Amino acid sequence: MEMKKIAVIGAGVVGMTTAYRLSQLGHNVVIIDPELNQSKIPTGCRTASQASLGILMGNTFRRSSGRNWKLRQRSMALWPELIKELATFDKSLKLETPLIQLASDYKEMELMKRLCKERSHLGLKLLNEEMNQCLKPSWPKNQYRGIVSAHDGRVNPLKLLNCLRATLDKLKVKTISAKVISLSRYSHEEKTKWKIILENKKVLIKEFVIICSALGSQSLLKKIGYDKPIEAVLGQALHLTLKKDNSSWKNWPAVLTCNGINLVPLKENQVIVGATLEPGVKAKKVYLNKLLALNGLAPKWLKDASLNNNWYGIRARPLKEPAPILKTIETGLILNTAHYRNGILLAPACAEWVGNQIRAKLL
Ligand SMILES: Cc1cc2nc3c(=O)[nH]c(=O)nc-3n(C[C@H](O)[C@H](O)[C@H](O)COP(=O)(O)OP(=O)(O)OC[C@H]3O[C@@H](n4cnc5c(N)ncnc54)[C@H](O)[C@@H]3O)c2cc1C
Repeated sequence: MEMKKIAVIGAGVVGMTTAYRLSQLGHNVVIIDPELNQSKIPTGCRTASQASLGILMGNTFRRSSGRNWKLRQRSMALWPELIKELATFDKSLKLETPLIQLASDYKEMELMKRLCKERSHLGLKLLNEEMNQCLKPSWPKNQYRGIVSAHDGRVNPLKLLNCLRATLDKLKVKTISAKVISLSRYSHEEKTKWKIILENKKVLIKEFVIICSALGSQSLLKKIGYDKPIEAVLGQALHLTLKKDNSSWKNWPAVLTCNGINLVPLKENQVIVGATLEPGVKAKKVYLNKLLALNGLAPKWLKDASLNNNWYGIRARPLKEPAPILKTIETGLILNTAHYRNGILLAPACAEWVGNQIRAKLL
């Protein structure tokens, strides 16, 4: 296949996975993001990819058709191989499974029963009473049941970002630590390309531009006449330390979700709890307190835990169309952005989609 000169704007999980995919296909890729050389993970505000819990809920999705279901299924198929490739840089990068999702009412329980019947081939089964009772530390007795999803789970997002970066470096993908200010059409020798202007006034000319800049996509698109409104939905998460005598996590899954809140047990007596859904870009204590109380469900061992660290990030949610925005809007200009709540899960399938768009153009 003909090699193309491609710029990927945005180096979160979505941009880096896309750059990786395109580089594997043999293209000449540059990735641009002002955060690229940030060496420390900030406390407080993080990029969405750094803030994420990294939960992969592909098989427990409620719908069984449509674009989103297909993307989820494709991503779940791609994740194991992707992790194997990336883990050459850090053997501890793993797809941690399973995931348990508890029903919060009778209606949800009925729905889960149906899902388990339809998707036993995807590793879904009903949580039985015994499994629920075996969790140590114990979870409050759940009067409804839940789902155990053998292949859903979690990937550590910080390790993932590190491994992606190391892999891009190995593949000699060029990285530019700068903000893209604007894009415009550039015609030369009867070929239309894209002119990219960086904040340091440098100019790049590329055959393809892939926009993966989440909330930052909106203003870039507006300057070239596209109205793609994207709203900010903030999410907070907590890293807690339990008292030592509760520290075994015996029989716990990689992820437990309950009432829309996720618990991710870490080594020893550590746990991550997240994440809130808050309008705007300012983190509010009231949402954090609700999260800590698990909407009234928190068992004593969790209430007694001490706070290690808390952080927040901003999810990008498209206002006029479903997330994510996956579109070729002009020749050579592709959008892979605004993934809202599932950018980590969907990154491999969306990167593959971008690769296929370019391939189709070249045939
Ligand atoms: C608290 C929290 C928990 C979450 N948990 C999960 C989860 O469990 N599972 C899951 O799948 N998803 C989860 N998400 C959602 C997920 O994090 C996002 O969907 C995903 O990270 C989006 O990745 P991204 O690369 O598109 O965006 P980002 O990580 O936001 O990266 C976008 C990048 O674009 C750069 N950029 C912006 N403008 C420009 C510009 N003009 N020029 C150059 N670069 C630019 C930014 O600097 C940034 O680095 C969570 C989100 C939050 C906030």
